[in-house]
Amino acid sequence: MTNSTPHLIDRFGRRVDYVRLSVTDRCDFRCVYCMAEDMEFLPRKEILSLEEIGRIAQAFIRLGVSKIRLTGGEPLVRKNVVALASAISATPGLSELNITSNGSQLRKQASALRKAGVTRLNISLDSLQPERFTSITRTGKLDQVLDGINAAREVGFDRIKINAVILNGRNEDEVLDLLQFCMERNLDISYIEEMPLGLIDDHDRAVTYCSSDEVRRIIGQRYQLLNSAVSSAGPSDYYHVHGSPIRVGFISPHSHNFCHLCNRVRVTVEGRLLLCLGNEHSMDLRAVLRSGASDDELEQAIISAMDLKPERHHFNLHDEPQIVRFMNMTGG
Ligand code: SAM
Ligand code: SF4
Repeated sequence: MTNSTPHLIDRFGRRVDYVRLSVTDRCDFRCVYCMAEDMEFLPRKEILSLEEIGRIAQAFIRLGVSKIRLTGGEPLVRKNVVALASAISATPGLSELNITSNGSQLRKQASALRKAGVTRLNISLDSLQPERFTSITRTGKLDQVLDGINAAREVGFDRIKINAVILNGRNEDEVLDLLQFCMERNLDISYIEEMPLGLIDDHDRAVTYCSSDEVRRIIGQRYQLLNSAVSSAGPSDYYHVHGSPIRVGFISPHSHNFCHLCNRVRVTVEGRLLLCLGNEHSMDLRAVLRSGASDDELEQAIISAMDLKPERHHFNLHDEPQIVRFMNMTGG
């Protein structure tokens, strides 16, 4: 990288080179940890058009961002998301365009996404038991998601990663089954601690909390976990299972604070640039765009927002959530 390449640096000296863009707040699932059962979604005029999302992505790339993830909500329920992916992946300077998906639409879209230049896929899968899968997602069908995972493998995506949120009393007894599933298919896996985003009434998050240490203890009963040299400069701590090539990650917002390494920001589908998952500091990029801003003005707005990035998050499972937006609004 030359010295003239612009960098986004916050007040604590952290370089931001990774952006998560939410392309919709909508979803065909209603996962119990992510949403309420009855959700009201945003009216169309409040959400960014695909062109606006593309413009924001390109501004970030010009500012030195090398990695973008499309997320939501379920990104694959947004019409023409493949065209957006093509436009973003073709922008010079980007090294990775990734998508996080619940897998339900992958049988139909995996091939087009790969052709559109999507580099990697994260697919959420919390249970391998059909009834339990439907109870956690409220509306999801396990078969459809497993078929979506197969479709992604068939079209040759490299390093597909499974994301599993582990809840005590719900699916902690599947930690080993999920690991075995991934080892048999050469998929990476990340186990995620639930975060208190949005007010839910399905369960008490303090009761279902399952720490990454506990997940590692369960895995250790059967496998030897070896610390991995790989780092995403982000929240995931990576390990290898002895004798297997897959990576095993732990995302531990409660038990292991990773804020000092934070290299990312998020943009909601309303165009709110969120500087931290666990804080409300934000800048309204939709207002900037819709005021008729030039590309330069958009870049200046993004650069000045870096000063708003807080030092760290403080999650507390025992009080009301401080963050009232649900994960589908945040762009997980
Ligand atoms: N719909 C897609 C999916 O489920 O993969 C993408 C969006 S979803 C918000 C992104 C990730 O956030 C998923 O892996 C999901 O399991 C995780 N997630 C959602 N709500 C969460 C919460 N409250 N705590 C921790 N992870 C959460
Ligand atoms: Fe939808 Fe993903 Fe949230 Fe589940 S976690 S409700 S699939 S956005």
